[in-house]
Amino acid sequence: MTDFSRTKPLFHLPDGMIYLDGNSLGPLPKATPERVAQTLTQEWGEMVITGWNRAGWMAQPMALGDRIGRLIGAEPGHVTLGDTLSIKVFQALAAALAMTDRKVILSDSGNFPSDLYMAEGLIEALDRGLELRVVAPEDVADAFSEDLGVLMLTQVDYRTGRLHDMAALTARAQALGIITVWDLAHSAGAMAVDVAGCGADFAVGCTYKYLNGGPGAPAFIYVAPRHADQARPILSGWLGHGAPFAFERAYRPGDRVARMRVGTPPVIQMAALDAAMDIWDTVDMQALRAASVALCERFIAGVTAACPDLTLASPRDAQHRGSQVSFSHPQGYAAMQACIAHGVVGDFRAPDIMRFGFTPLFIDAGDVDRAVAVIADVMANRLWDDPQYQARSAVT
Ligand SMILES: *Cc1c(COP(=O)(O)O)cnc(C)c1O
Repeated sequence: MTDFSRTKPLFHLPDGMIYLDGNSLGPLPKATPERVAQTLTQEWGEMVITGWNRAGWMAQPMALGDRIGRLIGAEPGHVTLGDTLSIKVFQALAAALAMTDRKVILSDSGNFPSDLYMAEGLIEALDRGLELRVVAPEDVADAFSEDLGVLMLTQVDYRTGRLHDMAALTARAQALGIITVWDLAHSAGAMAVDVAGCGADFAVGCTYKYLNGGPGAPAFIYVAPRHADQARPILSGWLGHGAPFAFERAYRPGDRVARMRVGTPPVIQMAALDAAMDIWDTVDMQALRAASVALCERFIAGVTAACPDLTLASPRDAQHRGSQVSFSHPQGYAAMQACIAHGVVGDFRAPDIMRFGFTPLFIDAGDVDRAVAVIADVMANRLWDDPQYQARSAVT
């Protein structure tokens, strides 16, 4: 069992702040500044270009990929890192589409807009009569049909925290010959995921949310071993080539998921992620899920008892929920700004969602109780009804 009272002191949390937004940007591990400084001064500074070999920079995307792979149930050697999640969605979807003659991609209206935009952009670029079909999250299972080529879903809905049954949907997809692309943005580091056990074909996710890699940290991509040597990487960059330093004129994809690399990896950002993964390497994901469910249940019970004006926008049943809890309120934006001003940091998602993420690595039951008291004060005393909380910032 992981003892989460041991992991909490490993993070820097600003004084007086209860941080319930680790689902959007994980906080800073205390070991990260020194690790990054070491990469800057001892590696970049002293080794300069020899750092690619001597400091292992070039091997980091696969090495870090394996450590993330443990958290998502991937086979070793089948996860790599690079670019941003939007790019990895594009790559995974393109590879999936290249494996089928069918024309329809099924997704849901709860999916993150970037995933849907990427699908639309790809459909336009491929110009082969493809169609993106978007249904409500709860209607996905009923929308299965034999004309579907690819099922592209985000396992945990970024707004509501609603959790898709990845094992059941993947099994049904497989039975109908539908390729699956799972976005784990809100599940990697939030709960145990089992991509191999589910039989997922492709999976992608980001490392700056629950995984604490820092703003701009690279995304990851998983390709199932059965496809790894056939999958076509549409973004055929030199570092996905079989022999990048042979500088061959003809593109020839690299081994397995390494072919999903595109260009030069973000070395400094990977150093930050490496420090965060030192913590993650010690975490038992079943224990993490149990702790996350307990925190979410405590929060829901506290807020629903104290704040009759807030409507639960997340599934009430923990089995159908990720590691976040959302409430809706017509003045949700101002209410969240008031909570933040009073030391409880969550975020707001249009049109009316106040979102709180629960991350057992650094949030405990005492934090939940203090957060509930602040939110209750904001709502009962209408602290949100103040012009300073109405003006929208660029990032909500
Ligand atoms: C956070 C998130 C993204 C963000 O993509 P970036 O390219 O890393 O900015 C994409 N998709 C989902 C589902 C997300 O939750």
